[in-house]
Amino acid sequence: MGGSGSGRQPSFPEKDTVEDCRVIDVNQWMRKGVLVPNSLRRGSWVWSRAGTGEELASIGYAIDTVGPAPPTIRLTYTLTATGEHCDYPVRLQTTQPRFGGIRWWFTCPLVTEGRPCQRRVQKLYLPPDGRYYGCRHCYQFRYASQQDSTVSAFAQAQAIRVRLGGDPRMHTPFPPKPKGMWWRTYYRLRHRFRRISRRVENRWW
Ligand SMILES: [Zn+2]
Repeated sequence: MGGSGSGRQPSFPEKDTVEDCRVIDVNQWMRKGVLVPNSLRRGSWVWSRAGTGEELASIGYAIDTVGPAPPTIRLTYTLTATGEHCDYPVRLQTTQPRFGGIRWWFTCPLVTEGRPCQRRVQKLYLPPDGRYYGCRHCYQFRYASQQDSTVSAFAQAQAIRVRLGGDPRMHTPFPPKPKGMWWRTYYRLRHRFRRISRRVENRWW
């Protein structure tokens, strides 16, 4: 079965962070005959490298579109990094396009800060460090607020420590003023360091 090789990644603004995501696309699954009405089926979806066909990853699915319960797809997969086994249902939705037929949608299963997302989406993404498939909105938000900015703030805080001749590790004492540095410069850097590390702490702890 087809998957997303290197040439078929989604177009995302944050290219380097989302490039490695596994993507499941409801339209692709419909075209490949995975998603059909009134059906109970299970199987696996395989991502293979474009050209060589080498298997990169796979997930298992169990689809129930029989009803009367709302249609669902159960996703099962093992995370390579941790070996954790994930198994959960994703609700499916349908709409009827004007020209007939049926259009399928995933319902984003993620819950952020206690609030279920439940967006109706065509694609779900699993970032390299993620556990669950989620919509672009959920993960963009996450990347913007946590990964990029926190990591870079952390790096900035460490850089200040190093510039003052200190230890980059955040739990060690803040370095004293180096000889030859203006006090004004030192206070400015210390103030900036405190501001940044407060931001870092709020996010991580
Ligand atoms: Zn979402």
